[in-house]
Amino acid sequence: MSKVALVTGATRGIGRQIAITLAQEGYDIALNYRKENEELEMVRKEIEENNVKCLLVKGDVSCFEECETLVGKVIETFGKIDVLVNNAGITKDMLLMRMKKEDFEQVIDVNLIGTFNVTKHVIAFMLKARTGRIINISSVVGVSGNAGQTNYSASKAGIIGFTKSLAKEVASRGILVNAVAPGFIETNMTDVLKEEVKEEIAKSIPLKRMGTSKDVANVVKFLASEDSSYLTGQVLQVDGGMLM
Ligand code: NDP
Repeated sequence: MSKVALVTGATRGIGRQIAITLAQEGYDIALNYRKENEELEMVRKEIEENNVKCLLVKGDVSCFEECETLVGKVIETFGKIDVLVNNAGITKDMLLMRMKKEDFEQVIDVNLIGTFNVTKHVIAFMLKARTGRIINISSVVGVSGNAGQTNYSASKAGIIGFTKSLAKEVASRGILVNAVAPGFIETNMTDVLKEEVKEEIAKSIPLKRMGTSKDVANVVKFLASEDSSYLTGQVLQVDGGMLM
């Protein structure tokens, strides 16, 4: 019986690559998206080319009820969830002086509360199965902080605390919970930066380049696999040595 992975926010960027990489490993994929777009069918096709199943599950992770429905659909279709990847995330960068309360709340709602919402509905099934992997996508700025990102850094630091606490709660039940903290990765999220800014950042990274979605997905693949069975409550930085 194939293993099943649920990946949130998987229509593009890192989430999409994680879904494809796990499909290449033979996982059936439940691919969460927030709104319909032309990319969706392309991702589904790319996943199914690996002879695995792909279920598209709509839902805004910041909505508790929608998460209950989406997790319910995955269980109804596949009967289990072996791996949960909490990847959906947004930024709303601004210096605190100018940041509106809604900008702070929205980022916390999607990134941190979204991670809680999906995990809360998945954990019951994993506890019953006495096995499971939860992989939360944090960020290096959740460790280091970053000017202009008080909201985002707080959400990503929160994910680290959530990861470690949950890892302690469920270790005895065979469930491993880890976080991945990417550095500076080429996706739509970082596309907003000017070319010169990107080049400057790349120069400051010991490995002298921005990361790719594949760099992150490969580490997620490891955390989902049997090769990481003695690892829980950890934060793996995938950042080319940016933060050490
Ligand atoms: P993108 O902006 O390219 O993609 C984000 C994905 O999340 C999209 O599929 C988006 O869907 C989805 N999403 C956003 N809000 C919600 C929501 N409320 N419910 C469900 N899905 C949602 O970002 P990245 O691929 O770059 O980022 C992926 C993760 O990696 C994020 O958690 C991010 O914080 C983290 N990260 C990224 C870094 C980078 O340098 N790129 C560095 C460190 C961490 P939609 O199409 O509907 O908007």
